[in-house]
Amino acid sequence: MNTEQIKNIVIVGGGSAGWMTAAMLAHQLESNISIALVESDSIGTVGVGEATIPPIKSFNRILGIDENDFLKKCNGSIKLGISFENWPRKNHQYFHPFGRFAVDFDYMPFPYFWQKYQASGNTTPLHEYASAWQLAKHNKFSLPAKDPKSLFSGYDYAYHFDAGLYANYLADYAKKRGVIRQEGKITQVNCHADNGFINTVTLESGQQISGDLFIDCSGANALLIEKALGVNFIDWSDNLLCDRAISVQTSHQKSISPYTRSIAEQAGWQWRIPLQTRMGNGSVYSSQFVDDQTAMDELLSKVEGELLTDPKMIKFKVGRRESFWHKNCVAIGLSAGFLEPLESTSLHLVQRAIMRLVYLFPSKHCEAVNQKLYNQQTVEEYEHIRDFIVLHYHATERDDSEFWRYCQHMALPTALTEQLALFTTHGHLILNGKDLFKQDNWLAVLTGQNILPKAVAPIMSFKQRLDLPRTMKSILQTLESNVKQLPKHQQYLQQHCHFSTK
Ligand SMILES: Cc1cc2nc3c(=O)[nH]c(=O)nc-3n(C[C@H](O)[C@H](O)[C@H](O)COP(=O)(O)OP(=O)(O)OC[C@H]3O[C@@H](n4cnc5c(N)ncnc54)[C@H](O)[C@@H]3O)c2cc1C
Repeated sequence: MNTEQIKNIVIVGGGSAGWMTAAMLAHQLESNISIALVESDSIGTVGVGEATIPPIKSFNRILGIDENDFLKKCNGSIKLGISFENWPRKNHQYFHPFGRFAVDFDYMPFPYFWQKYQASGNTTPLHEYASAWQLAKHNKFSLPAKDPKSLFSGYDYAYHFDAGLYANYLADYAKKRGVIRQEGKITQVNCHADNGFINTVTLESGQQISGDLFIDCSGANALLIEKALGVNFIDWSDNLLCDRAISVQTSHQKSISPYTRSIAEQAGWQWRIPLQTRMGNGSVYSSQFVDDQTAMDELLSKVEGELLTDPKMIKFKVGRRESFWHKNCVAIGLSAGFLEPLESTSLHLVQRAIMRLVYLFPSKHCEAVNQKLYNQQTVEEYEHIRDFIVLHYHATERDDSEFWRYCQHMALPTALTEQLALFTTHGHLILNGKDLFKQDNWLAVLTGQNILPKAVAPIMSFKQRLDLPRTMKSILQTLESNVKQLPKHQQYLQQHCHFSTK
């Protein structure tokens, strides 16, 4: 028997982060290891987190989850991207699609051709060339085409789902694979006197639970990483001002759209997340610039349909933990950090944290070198996502409120300043293969927010072989005619994954 091997893992918290972690660890670690998950019914979970991004599909796939079964049981729908409304200015809309824009020509990405076409006077927005938007705009969905030459092979998709049902779904999965759920409120965290590692947690009942490795999924409480181990939180509210949210569910009024809506307001924005049987609505705002009652009134005056729940207010902090893995404790989920929900990246960060932990899984000593790499990579990931979100707020012409004027003029993180300088010169971008947001994501938001290069990339003046106006017109015609043949999103859901409350 290997005495160095971790034998007992304790996960503190049973929100999305806790159960995602429990399910994946139960799947990845062979028997011979005990996994306990402690959650408190009296504390509950944050209860939001219903829009995702495409990599969630690979998380579910690794677990061997059947997509239709999951959508059926989690009240799920399809998400092809985000419609940003009123962001660069009022009465403006653009779409951040999942997947690629059209196809590349001559080894140059399509958006360079679009920029050249635009510079010659054409005004068709870039998103019109994305098959994801063409589907979204017509409320259609089918799985991407397998033929790589098809314009309908390049889009990607994610899900909207009920966060509580997803946690239950993964809890069933994890419990079937041996994870023990323990209900109770932790009142004390006890550490070894010699090395400061966490040894046990004590429940209100007096019961003690011991472990070799502790995963802190206790949400904003950050019970282990902060309260017991004292790891600081780095605050990013200088660039991300929103610190409160109100969420409320309503009945559907129209057909179920396959995309999230993000509608900019005076001091923040509102979300609309369509599930099969209801709409999730919310307002995310900065308490420095609008009071709670005004934000609530603004939300309730704009939601459609009958209210199905009482509005719920959530306070949050934006930023990240100074270290995500400290001693024998790894913080995953809201205890690790939060970057506000604008691009639905939180569950993705949970997923990345879990997979990184699996890859760097330590012995009982929690080797410092593993921790160092884990922390470095996680910091890079958080900073990259932060910069992408900050771009949405900063790249605005809106000056109709103090909030937007602050965003326009705020000092930016250095990497984002460099990105903007490079892009506005010739349309190039600083890209790192590991980054979540790729060229097409940056382009969608930059061009959507009316940030354009001052000049077309010089290389494009050599690209004369293509009849640009004809090609661009033909792409739009092909997209328009093909999309007509595809099923409605609602029809797709009814046929493949109809949600039933029974
Ligand atoms: C307004 C808002 C909107 C969001 N929208 C999205 C979105 O669209 N997409 C997305 O990906 N993410 C979104 N997120 C983030 C997402 O909700 C979270 O990342 C996700 O739910 C994970 O939360 P969690 O499990 O870390 O915390 P929680 O859900 O808060 O769970 C914490 C758990 O710890 C337990 N716990 C705490 N203290 C104790 C104790 N003393 N003893 C025992 N148990 C304890 C609780 O009982 C609970 O089970 C949003 C977040 C907010 C605030």
